[in-house]
Amino acid sequence: MNTVIDPLLLQKFKNLIQDSKNLVVIPHVNPDGDAIGSCIALCRVLNNMGKYVKIIIPNEFPEFLQWMEGIDEAIDFEKSPEEVNQLFQKADTMFCLDFNDFERAEGLKDLLTGFKGKKIVIDHHPGPVVQCDLLISYTSVCSTGELLFRIIEGVGLLNFVDRAAADAIFTGMMTDTGNFSYNASDPETYHIIAKLLEKGIDKDLIHSNIYHTFSEDRWRLIGHSLKEKMIILPQYRTGYISLSKKELEMFNFQPGDTEGLVNYPLMVKGIVFCVLFMEQDDQIKLSFRSKGNFSTNNFARKHFNGGGHINASGGKSNLTLEEAILKFELLLDEYREELLNSY
Ligand code: 5GP
Ligand code: MN
Repeated sequence: MNTVIDPLLLQKFKNLIQDSKNLVVIPHVNPDGDAIGSCIALCRVLNNMGKYVKIIIPNEFPEFLQWMEGIDEAIDFEKSPEEVNQLFQKADTMFCLDFNDFERAEGLKDLLTGFKGKKIVIDHHPGPVVQCDLLISYTSVCSTGELLFRIIEGVGLLNFVDRAAADAIFTGMMTDTGNFSYNASDPETYHIIAKLLEKGIDKDLIHSNIYHTFSEDRWRLIGHSLKEKMIILPQYRTGYISLSKKELEMFNFQPGDTEGLVNYPLMVKGIVFCVLFMEQDDQIKLSFRSKGNFSTNNFARKHFNGGGHINASGGKSNLTLEEAILKFELLLDEYREELLNSY
């Protein structure tokens, strides 16, 4: 709480921005509302300052962010690798937003590592492992969107935040806090929201654009997951949902359709830890969530090749879906005491 951004970092940020003309801005793979929101906001601020900026996404963005102003101009590396290569050649400065390990850019990793210009990373996840010219990393800030706002304000660039940039920052703050239901107890968050409202954001419309625009298939998939696939293990205060490729296909799965699904077991009384297993083409993707002091970050790092925050992490596995579930269930015994004592 009461996070103050180091003035030396702000000064360095200001100098690097002043010296830049041609920039690329990058979110993590499978970008979420905070990653995309931060990229759009920064891109607009830099554009408004007269700089040439392109957002490059490692892979496609979810349908529920389609409404965001400026997203159409983002370039998908998987669709246009050659164009992305050229943009990296020309750029003098690169921003990585909402991740702190180049591995998290997946296919773009080599371009990020080999980039010859200035590298700036802005993020709020624990344990940064990037080599860069400037790292602004505060895990106490709820979202990269909020951190970016504080930086922009801190260096006196608030005039360049237009309504679309403000929309994008609010989207990051809202989606990374489950609509301000967790990690959202810092009074500064609400002072910032007041300033975003003064910039003209339509808070209710943004909420509706994100949460009230599900396809029928997406709702049916949620129904199926809750009725048929949610397993509750009260002896470990844990719950999980698993979805095979076949099930996802049955509901015409689109990227973003399972966003938020992981949280449902946590809404069962007494449950403090939950997981969503999703079978993908070549691996199993896992999402972890917890309440209180049980660290999903440690669990994901140690056992499932991932990481994240204390209460929200992701990971992956090369096992089959059934094997990954079995591995998880067996591991729970090791964490039984910790889970039972979690508060
Ligand atoms: P999600 O479950 O929504 O994919 O991710 C939850 C959180 O964990 C996000 O903050 C995301 O950035 C982080 N995360 C997701 N997958 C991975 C991963 O494979 N590695 C790391 N280090 N973090 C991840
Ligand atoms: Mn984030």
